[in-house]
Amino acid sequence: MKQVLVLNSGSSSIKYQLLDMDDRKRLAVGIVERIGESAGSVADHAAGMRVVLDELQEALDRSNLAAVGHRVVHGGDRFRGPTLIDDEVCDTIRDLIPLAPLHNPTNLTLIEAARSAFPDTPQVAVFDTAFHQTLPAPAYTYAVPKEWREDLGVRRYGFHGTSHQYVSRRAAELLGRRPEEVNMIVLHLGNGASVCAVREGKSVDTSMGLTPLEGLIMGTRSGDLDPAVPAYIARQTGRGAEEIDATLNKESGLLALAGSNDLRDIDAAATKGDEAARLALDAYCYRIRKYIGAYLAALGRVDAVVFTAGVGENSATVRAGAVAGLEKLGIAVSPKRNGQESKEARYISPYWAETAVLVVPTDEEIEIADQALEVLGRAG
Ligand code: ADP
Repeated sequence: MKQVLVLNSGSSSIKYQLLDMDDRKRLAVGIVERIGESAGSVADHAAGMRVVLDELQEALDRSNLAAVGHRVVHGGDRFRGPTLIDDEVCDTIRDLIPLAPLHNPTNLTLIEAARSAFPDTPQVAVFDTAFHQTLPAPAYTYAVPKEWREDLGVRRYGFHGTSHQYVSRRAAELLGRRPEEVNMIVLHLGNGASVCAVREGKSVDTSMGLTPLEGLIMGTRSGDLDPAVPAYIARQTGRGAEEIDATLNKESGLLALAGSNDLRDIDAAATKGDEAARLALDAYCYRIRKYIGAYLAALGRVDAVVFTAGVGENSATVRAGAVAGLEKLGIAVSPKRNGQESKEARYISPYWAETAVLVVPTDEEIEIADQALEVLGRAG
């Protein structure tokens, strides 16, 4: 039995999954939360790793552990695919900290903790940005001074790459085609949310940018706004850049519009006539629809629109709202198919639609595990 441990650290949490890759099933799934938040909680990510090891004691078979796969948020333009971790790779992830000051440091701490916990097991980094390294220059370039672009790395990187990659491949399977034969628009709608234009299996545009703040309206992130807004707020209120950045990332989006970042609550409140919830839902769907339009233009031909992640997999309201009015473009959902709840990858478009509309559950952990083994296969 070949095992892979997948680790995914947030600023105050560690999510883990132990997978049996022969049977492609989960042996253990867990999360260590509220790291470093209060006295009595787990002190830091290194201590969190010890909790993970404790919880894994039963399920883990060290002699059959083939790899540890780490989700790393920002690979900048230095990592184009999954990478076997050594000291030099750690140094490069450290160099990229300015691009992801909240995420890369905790990712690194966990990598170091896992390397000392499993000194003989290969560790592989899988980057959220890697799938988008195929973006062409016109799609990733921001029209800003050369110094910002060249010395400071200001460009579009994109995130959720592991999910977009997994989902676009599964979607091609569902269509019965090879990934190289299809163009699609993938909508990853979770707490964070992003759109990806996939041409023939490769990401050619995506809605998140230098950071995950750009693009769609998200649970607590504003998504797109006039870049002059932060300067305006700073002048009017005297608030600093860090504070404004935190507000746009943590206190904006659906939370700011409707008082909740959970789409289930918002959908229920809107149905009862709550106007703020109605506006939040409408703005959320409208932003998605605008991106579908933009990526139709970017791709020229679209074979499928694919919904994934918590909201995309579960909210028929959002799926219907996102494609409302696009029938003339060949994009629509069948109310009956869209309304059926399911955990399976499936079609929700009506028989007459030219473009398939699909729901494909994402599975970042299995993708990370697969990519980790793929790297080892290449290395060995
Ligand atoms: P994360 O980005 O944290 O991985 P998920 O992909 O798990 O997030 O998505 C979380 C979101 O999914 C929550 O905001 C929740 O509102 C939404 N969600 C989960 N189940 C449903 C549902 N049945 N209907 C609508 N939204 C749902």
